[in-house]
Parts: sequence; structure tokens; C-alpha cells
Amino acid sequence: TLIYYHLAMTQILVASPIKKKITKELKAECKLLKERNVTPFLKVILVGHDPASVVYTTNKKKFCEKVGAKCEIIELPETISEKDFINVLNDINKDKNVHGCIIQLPLPLQLTHLDVGTLINKDKDVDGFHPENLYSILRGQYTPLDFVSCTPKGIITLLKAYEIPLAGKNVVIIGRSMIVGKPLSMLLTNENATVTLAHSKTENLKELTKKADIIVCALGKANFLDRSFLNSSNNQIVIDVGINKDGEGNMFGDANYSDIFDHVQAITPVPGGIGPMTIVSLVQNLLQAAKKEISI
Ligand code: NAD
Repeated sequence: TLIYYHLAMTQILVASPIKKKITKELKAECKLLKERNVTPFLKVILVGHDPASVVYTTNKKKFCEKVGAKCEIIELPETISEKDFINVLNDINKDKNVHGCIIQLPLPLQLTHLDVGTLINKDKDVDGFHPENLYSILRGQYTPLDFVSCTPKGIITLLKAYEIPLAGKNVVIIGRSMIVGKPLSMLLTNENATVTLAHSKTENLKELTKKADIIVCALGKANFLDRSFLNSSNNQIVIDVGINKDGEGNMFGDANYSDIFDHVQAITPVPGGIGPMTIVSLVQNLLQAAKKEISI
């Protein structure tokens, strides 16, 4: 009798072992900096009380403190005027003790027209949104003076840690935001991948994803990517950036995890995948900013 065994060989690309290793490195670097009287200091601007933003900023602060860096969350009122908001940022830009500053998005309506990327000086822009930092990834050369945006940077760190080849591979990114899709398309191009940047106006998306070696979902639609987007090879890799919550606070990615799990080679979980990698990248950027002070 012939017995067929279906061996589930899917690899779950969890962040935790990578985070653990990088945390150790960051702690050591922080210690060295403090021995030279530099305490890496991050300021996080939080306008209003959006519950998701409160959780994100708290997690960022916790991880800073875990590695020995300082983090202050500046809570500003939901109704703050544009003038007062800019004044707060200008003071931080001038403050020599602060190495990095990020503005937690989304901002309230009266501030949404502001070009967030230009409000924080390039040398403190640890979110990597400043035009000059974005230009460095466009150019494909990053010096210790340049900051790479955190989520795209975290995705590359994870892919490299799991030794997933990128050169010559077809990558389809779904979602073209300034904070994920667009900068990630540049980073992957710099890694010699062939990148297709798909979005809400893309036609025949499934034809594209079926040809991909790696699919990155960053569109913000819970369980969007199901089996019908995959080919039959069981060899595709899915990177799920999505963070979607239902009314009860349960978290879902943009990929339908249980539907595709047996049909992919590897997949990042939500939570526990790209989310933690983003925070790791932020603190890597903060220490990079602090190191400039003593050039180690
Ligand atoms: P966004 O909300 O600014 O934009 C969504 C993008 O998806 C747009 O470019 C749009 O064209 C595209 N899109 C929407 N519907 C589509 C469809 N049906 N088909 C194809 N493309 C479609 O995106 P964002 O801010 O990059 O966020 C995307 C998701 O990633 C959200 O769930 C967000 O919460 C999450 N996110 C996670 C992290 C993290 O640390 N893990 C960081 C940033 C964002």
C-alpha cells in the first residue's frame, strides 16, 4: 500500500530570536556610550489619545529602557494648534541631549496637512522620513549619518537573519505607503530583488502574486491574502506587515494565516513578526544617532 504523508514544512519567521540577539548588541553598545557619558535619548511625540498609538509608544519606550536608553513620551493635547506643535518640535531639534525624535501617527485633522518628514532635523530623524534620509535609500548608499525607515529596515533584517535569498527574486509588495511600501521597494531593489509595487489601482493582482517568490502584504486589510493569490508550488514566502484589530482588540494580519499556512514555504506571524522588528530598528537607529556624538 502506498501511503502519502503530507509533511507540513512551513517555516514561521518569528522575530523573537532575532530580537533577542539584537537586544544583546544594543545593550552592549548602550553601555559603551554611557561609559563615554552619552545616554541615548529618544523623544516620542504623541498627540491625543488614540488607543493604538498609546500602545505603540509605550512599547517603544519599554524597549528603549530595556537596552538602557532614555525615552520620553511627550503627550500633547488633541486640540494643539499648528504653531504650538511646531514650537515643541523646534525646541527638540535644538536640544543637544536628544538624539532622536519621532512623531507618532496619525495626527489630528488640524495637523495632517503638515509634511511630517521635514519637521524633525535629519540628524534626529530616527524614523527615516526626512527627504535626505529617503534619498539615501533611493541612491542605495547608507552612511552612519543616514536613517532607514524602521518597518522596511526591520523587514530586511528579518529576511537576512533567516537567510532568505533576495538577489534576482521576484518580490510583490502590496501597498505603496510612504512608511512601508515605497521605501521597502527601494531597499529590496538595492538588494537586487526585482520588485513590483502593487496598490489599490493595480489590475490583475493575483496574476502578479502568483509569479512572486516573496509577497509582502502592507495594505491594512485583515485576512486579505488568501490561497487564491498563491501558486501551487508551496514555495512562496509571505511577509505580513498588517496590523488590523477587531472590536474586541484581537489582532489580524493582512494575510489569511490559517488559509495559506500549508501552502507557503515561510510566513511571518501577526503578532510576533514585523511589529517587533520595527521597534528593534527604531532603537538601532537611536543608538546610531547617539554614536555620532562620540564617533565610535
Ligand atoms: P496605508 O494605510 O497608508 O496604505 C495602504 C496601501 O494599500 C495603499 O497604498 C493602497 O493603495 C493599498 N491598498 C489598499 N487596498 C488595496 C487592495 N485591495 N489591493 C491592493 N492594494 C491596496 O498603509 P500603511 O500605513 O503602510 O499600513 C499598512 C498596514 O501595515 C496597516 O495594517 C498598518 O497598521 C500596518 N503597519 C504595520 C507596521 C508594523 O510595525 N508592523 C508599521 C506600519 C504599518
